[in-house]
Amino acid sequence: MQPRDLSAHVAYEAGRGVGEVARELGLDEETLIKLSSNENAFGPSPKAVEAVKAHAPMVHTYPKSSAADLRERLADRLSVDSGQIWLANGGDGALDYLSRAMLRPGEEVLVPTPGFAYYGMSARYHHGSVNEYPIEKADGFTQSVDGILEHYSDERIVYLTSPHNPTGSEVSVADVETIAEETAEETLVVIDEAYGEFSASPSAVPLVRERDDIAVIRTFSKAHGLAGLRLGYAVVSDAWADAYARVNTPFAASEIACRAGLAALDDASHVERTVETAAWAREYIYENLECQTWESAGNFVLCEVDNGSEITAAAQREGVIVRDTTSFGLPECIRITCGTREETKRAVEVLNGLL
Ligand SMILES: *Cc1c(COP(=O)(O)O)cnc(C)c1O
Repeated sequence: MQPRDLSAHVAYEAGRGVGEVARELGLDEETLIKLSSNENAFGPSPKAVEAVKAHAPMVHTYPKSSAADLRERLADRLSVDSGQIWLANGGDGALDYLSRAMLRPGEEVLVPTPGFAYYGMSARYHHGSVNEYPIEKADGFTQSVDGILEHYSDERIVYLTSPHNPTGSEVSVADVETIAEETAEETLVVIDEAYGEFSASPSAVPLVRERDDIAVIRTFSKAHGLAGLRLGYAVVSDAWADAYARVNTPFAASEIACRAGLAALDDASHVERTVETAAWAREYIYENLECQTWESAGNFVLCEVDNGSEITAAAQREGVIVRDTTSFGLPECIRITCGTREETKRAVEVLNGLL
């Protein structure tokens, strides 16, 4: 007995965990600076931590009212109906739900390269196939309507990432709308705003109120610091929002995740501090790291270092973990997550010593 042909599938390569690296290098976990997975430098909101503790005694029940409350709360904030919020096990789970709801076997999707690996993975799991559009270093990794549409051939889903991981570039709301306008009626444009909170640009969510061919992905993993809880959502059109009931894994987001999510939404100052510090760190990296960097709207900066895997390994030996972007198709680069002021300064010092 064997699984189906999985030869086209690849394993997701996550940034390395501190525990892993500490064990391998025989270093103390506490002294490591982990800037490889775009996690929140300040940890979760203390309010979310309280909520996790407070609701621990209730985890024998299925998450019903908490999920309903969270969908309501998010819908209120975004001025959509709660049915338009598809809660999921992380933003990745929300990508899966869109694949489940949209893809017929053999249909194609269009993904950015370099880009977030999970778009293509999710499409393949759902019996789709994957085409790519390039985001070119030669163009400063800008994302242009023409550059994307040039590669479009009636795919069922077109993925846009803004701010884009790992380059940090953005797609304007006007450009998202143009792409939706220029693509077929049966093409869904998914705009992934996993790092939306870090950007000064407006969200594409208002477009979802007017059009049925755009969906927005958001997550609690980054600005809210809840990556370990796995909580994200899609904001979808009212026209087909009810498909959620047919495609979602029952109780898609856990009781604890929903409670923590509700509490995190109430902690505006945690998000504010996170976003402000990331903005400071980006500037610090552009100004002080002795190599080419690209302007980023996320909580990370892409940097050109010649040999990403060597620099990453050398920095790790000095206790600084950054992301080698070889798996993104950029072996000459690394991606540095914005840390606290202290962590960011130390990372820049270590990297400058190696460059
Ligand atoms: C982190 C990230 C996500 C979502 O991650 P989850 O932890 O599953 O919420 C989605 N898209 C991009 C580009 C990301 O970097």
